[in-house]
Amino acid sequence: MLPPECETALQQLDAFRRGDLPPEEMQSLRGHLDACRRCFSFKLHEEAMLDRLVAAARNSRCPEELRATIYQMIAKESRDN
Ligand SMILES: [Zn+2]
Repeated sequence: MLPPECETALQQLDAFRRGDLPPEEMQSLRGHLDACRRCFSFKLHEEAMLDRLVAAARNSRCPEELRATIYQMIAKESRDN
């Protein structure tokens, strides 16, 4: 079981990242992250995972763009001929 202050800190992480927390809660969460290795490393892992998700989403868009480019090339060719 997590200590209550860690539970609170982890629940506030999303809002913290968006900058949606009131300033004094930002302050106390930042202080907790500095002092608590567990929450700090959780935050790092979560951010690494988010980065990977964003990168994956970016990659999965590529084939569609490629397909669109190919369609345009085909359309252009059939128009030229
Ligand atoms: Zn903690």
